Amino acid sequence: MALTSRVPQIAAGHDEPALLPAILDPAIRQLVEQYPERLHDWCSRFGSPLNIVLPWLLDRNLQRLAAVLERHRVDCRIFYAAKVNKSRALVKAAVEAGLGVDVSSRFELRDALEAGCPGHAICASGPARTGPFYRELAEADALVSIDSGEELAELAEWAARQPSGRRLRILLRFRPSAATTSRFGIPASQMPACLAMVAAAPEAFAFEGFHFHLGGYAAASRVAALCEVAVWVRRARAMGLPVSLIDIGGGLPIRYVESQAYAQFLENQSGADYRTGRVPASFYPYGGGIDAAGWLEEFLAAAGPDGKTVAAYLRAEALTLALEPGRSLADQTAFSLFRIARTKLLPDEQLVLFVEGSSFSACETWFASEFLVDPVLVSRARPGTPPAPARAWIAGHSCLDDDVLTNRLIPFPVRPRQGDLILFGNTAGYQMDLLENEFHRVPMPRRIALSADLATAQPDDLGGTS
Ligand SMILES: *Cc1c(COP(=O)(O)O)cnc(C)c1O
Repeated sequence: MALTSRVPQIAAGHDEPALLPAILDPAIRQLVEQYPERLHDWCSRFGSPLNIVLPWLLDRNLQRLAAVLERHRVDCRIFYAAKVNKSRALVKAAVEAGLGVDVSSRFELRDALEAGCPGHAICASGPARTGPFYRELAEADALVSIDSGEELAELAEWAARQPSGRRLRILLRFRPSAATTSRFGIPASQMPACLAMVAAAPEAFAFEGFHFHLGGYAAASRVAALCEVAVWVRRARAMGLPVSLIDIGGGLPIRYVESQAYAQFLENQSGADYRTGRVPASFYPYGGGIDAAGWLEEFLAAAGPDGKTVAAYLRAEALTLALEPGRSLADQTAFSLFRIARTKLLPDEQLVLFVEGSSFSACETWFASEFLVDPVLVSRARPGTPPAPARAWIAGHSCLDDDVLTNRLIPFPVRPRQGDLILFGNTAGYQMDLLENEFHRVPMPRRIALSADLATAQPDDLGGTS
């Protein structure tokens, strides 16, 4: 159960700004409300920005999906899409929860193996692998999703030359008709030739089934893609190829703010809510009507191939469903702290908060969008009357004009001050570390993993990279 933050209403006025209170896990809420000194202490020790991981929450996210799968009696393999966050503590939590790992580089592969993931529970998606990566995947007996006829032809030769005599376990990545302009996957027109190539190289390949991954977050688009794949399942089986698995990728949505508050915000927002005077063109569905478990329910209960529901089709065909969730498994598993270095009133009366850290650690503005969730102000106790509410936008510490964490004018219950902390909730999914770098020679932001009692923190960012 998640609580909604209790940000007091901004003082009534003619242009009262709409709030987008972050859904925060009770553990994070507890830190903010009961142990704010710990947040300040960790920032003093590890620097700002600071990414704080709560690895045990990953299993909670998994259990919600598992309950849906169980109800539909669908056999499923879940691969944690490791690219969602660089935390090794999260990879370890996924492996300890019994999940496989979806890897897209040799480095993610090694993290998975070091976390104790059995090689055969690793899946490699991603389109541009090179020889050394194939070698390590083959040695691990990992499942490899093949992205093109070109890749398949090259691998048929490569695998046949391997001294181990072990066959490469493969899926064929299908490009659904909803994604015809995508560069990923094998289009229907080339699928017969690819299946023929697989059938002709039994010494090279152990074929297990089909894969796709779509952009966007609609369950319906996955149902449509599954119906297209069902045709290829039949064709492959008719050719004598065993098909045991359909991997539908990731993209299960999560909720950052309550749907009602979000819908209201979207309806009422205007250029006046942004320092740029413009509303960004698109946003992640931060307060969508559906969460990951609801999405999976919708997918499995939908009308699928052969006049059956998707779940009934998978059962009837003895197919294992595979999922590669990244963001949805990482839901609530990390948050980010930024210390305010300076506040400044601009000539247009706008208040800007300069934080120690940059928008590379809260990166939505780099995608011409906005992380549409109110950050939480963690102030030190102040003697005297609390200052009045204020709106401010947040800038990074670099001299890039575009280094802006929020273009939105954030409503704060009290006016933020130098030394206060800004907490962005739920930054685990592609938010906190996707673009991080050492611009201005400032060292990489630190990442720490908390113990479940919220008392101790371990570094979660050490180890080799070569
Ligand atoms: C990124 C990616 C995922 C994970 O997507 P989420 O939206 O984080 O669930 C899964 N599979 C593939 C092939 C991907 O590229």
